[in-house]
Amino acid sequence: EELLMYADTAMNKAKSEGKNSIRLYNRDIKHEVIKKIDMQNKLRKALELDEFFLQYQPQYSLKTGLIRGIEALVRWKSPSLGIVKPNDFIPVAEEMGYIVPLGKWALKKACCDAAKWEKEFGYTGLISVNVSARQLNNADFVETIREAIVTSGVNPKKLELEITESMFISSFETAVPKLADIIDLGARICLDDFGKGYSSLGYLMQLPIDTLKIDKSFIAHTETNMIKSNIAASIAALVNDLGIESIVEGVETEKQFEFIRHTRTNDLQGFLFSRPVNEDMIGEILERNNRGIPFNGVLKN
Ligand code: C2E
Ligand code: CA
Ligand code: CA
Repeated sequence: EELLMYADTAMNKAKSEGKNSIRLYNRDIKHEVIKKIDMQNKLRKALELDEFFLQYQPQYSLKTGLIRGIEALVRWKSPSLGIVKPNDFIPVAEEMGYIVPLGKWALKKACCDAAKWEKEFGYTGLISVNVSARQLNNADFVETIREAIVTSGVNPKKLELEITESMFISSFETAVPKLADIIDLGARICLDDFGKGYSSLGYLMQLPIDTLKIDKSFIAHTETNMIKSNIAASIAALVNDLGIESIVEGVETEKQFEFIRHTRTNDLQGFLFSRPVNEDMIGEILERNNRGIPFNGVLKN
């Protein structure tokens, strides 16, 4: 039994690394598996124990410098593991199906917060929520969105769902009609991380998207290597001609900003303007925005 369990562990490891790979069982794999099982067990209780919270990162219109939307980013504060980053726990949550209740919670919380900001600060921009493949493939996905809109009272036109291309690779036929249902509800679709992994321009024509988010890797090397930045500029121009809004994420430096401001990009998001912040910081950011202060007031003229 023990041997079979080890073989199974090695097989799973090989599978997770892609097709046609071979792995031998060893102590490192064993530790990894134990770590993962431990995380799974802790995740199972985390929602109940209220260990998740959302941080928010504003997105700015290049033209006006004012907020066009706010993206919700989930965080896990585990008493034993500390603050765990989404890239470390979301893949595990996806694998165990736990992303479905977690995603539902994040969606509802973000919608409720956006409705609250409208009442308190007159905020009428978008609220962006990340959606994973597993959530989209779940049978009650559209119902979940409808419910979040109804119970929060958020204006559905202000809800933008961020999806990625990888979701469509295995289930294009079933996923696309769901997007149509979401659009019927009044919400918007943003294709996130465009250019990371398998980007296909074909998706731009086949998916009903409102916004295309150009992956942060494109402008990460504006200072030293312009090739990718120039590609990002071309993508922005191309999608604009298709009537799709473009947003560049990962803007960290004034040099990057200088480059982007001369492109046809519509919107910007990045550490230069604001890192993701806790909910209690949003009021201050929105008040500055209401006073017409562009880009959160961080750029020198
Ligand atoms: P993402 O959707 O591409 O989110 C953007 C990530 O880039 C965030 O990382 C954000 O903190 C980071 N970022 C923002 N500005 C900059 C910048 O100027 N430079 C750099 N280097 N990074 C920047 P984070 O919060 O660690 O999230 C990682 C990923 O986890 C997200 O990538 C998203 O795919 C996933 N995620 C986060 N929240 C949720 C959620 O509620 N549901 C689902 N399904 N996935 C989520
Ligand atoms: Ca995103
Ligand atoms: Ca992204």
